[in-house]
Amino acid sequence: MRIAEMNWMQVEARAKADRRAVLPVGSTEQHAHLSLCVDAILAERVALDAVAGTGIPVFPVLNYGLTPSFVDYPGTVTLKLSTLCALITDVLDGMVRSGFDRITIVNGHGGNSPAHGAVLEWLDRNRGVQVKWHNWWSAPATMAHVQRIDPVASHASWMENFPWTRLGNIAMPATQKPMLDLGRFQQLDPGAKKTMLGDGNYGGFYQRADEEMLAIWDTAVAETRALIMEGWA
Ligand SMILES: [Zn+2]
Repeated sequence: MRIAEMNWMQVEARAKADRRAVLPVGSTEQHAHLSLCVDAILAERVALDAVAGTGIPVFPVLNYGLTPSFVDYPGTVTLKLSTLCALITDVLDGMVRSGFDRITIVNGHGGNSPAHGAVLEWLDRNRGVQVKWHNWWSAPATMAHVQRIDPVASHASWMENFPWTRLGNIAMPATQKPMLDLGRFQQLDPGAKKTMLGDGNYGGFYQRADEEMLAIWDTAVAETRALIMEGWA
């Protein structure tokens, strides 16, 4: 459940009975025709759906992440890597102080992965605590499901286009964009990146059938739920 729906006494009691909790991490960055907040929306929602009925608290999603490549796209906000690492480890400190020491970070943005290193360092200073870093969209079952439907899938393509990330009254192109040469793209500065990338989709169709997307979502929720619930040493 959302921590926003609990008071401190409820959290205190909860942590005494169950030490598991979840921290979703997102990003605010261009997603072509989709919401700028795709990564935050999806990370928080998959976390909330995954804990449905369990009472496990989901802390508020971190809405900003590391996205230096997209800064020329209006609405994109990047944190410095040092800021993101400090933010995540400060929140972990607060969660542990609250009594939670079996924590799943549900990350919705690949660019945030360098911050996992800071979490590993933090674990050295917090012996006995366990933290999983879960990139929900690229976890094995979810990514296999995406690939079965359409292997041409990437940032801001159909694979991020859910009923809850698309915008009203925005028509999606019907074309399949060729996959970006990621190696060449990565070496460029943000201005040159924007020129190369255009609308922001890395490659693939812009939208697929809702039935396909809802089936992928079910897979992602089940995979995320299993990680949050099980596998604690
Ligand atoms: Zn995304």
